[in-house]
Amino acid sequence: MSRLRWCIGYCLNDKCHSCFKGAFLLNPETEFQFICGDCDVAGYVEHEKHKTTGAGEIYTECRVSFNYNPEERKYRGEAIIRREDIMPELIYKMSSPVVKGESRALKLAEGLLSHLTNGPKIQNGAIIEAHEKTLYWDDPRSLYLINLGKIGKQWENSQKKVKD
Ligand SMILES: [Zn+2]
Repeated sequence: MSRLRWCIGYCLNDKCHSCFKGAFLLNPETEFQFICGDCDVAGYVEHEKHKTTGAGEIYTECRVSFNYNPEERKYRGEAIIRREDIMPELIYKMSSPVVKGESRALKLAEGLLSHLTNGPKIQNGAIIEAHEKTLYWDDPRSLYLINLGKIGKQWENSQKKVKD
């Protein structure tokens, strides 16, 4: 039983037809070897990351990096939601290869900031842990895939909930 986070595994083998195509994964550990399902060569994993910077007690800004490009290994966009009514204090930064588009990134940033502003001060990543569920790697593959699908749905729903 492990805590899981979203990540995407990318094949880097330019002779493979899946090169740079992402495989959606849930990752039990920070160090995790992704093997491409098509060419069996070890690839690269981009993890979802969370951190808080700045000083103070209040979150005044949230940044969500989106549109990850595996060839450059960087995010092409960053959505920023900022409170202008108070002096800048804490900044919550999240980057996720799962977040593709600008509008989704902005909604996510808006929802996170709203949640952080209204709720108690949190530790790095704690807000996401509320969305986390547990998967068992030893489950039969069919059961594993069913649970993976359920978690995906919960994650989508929880974002909407945060936004409201
Ligand atoms: Zn491959």
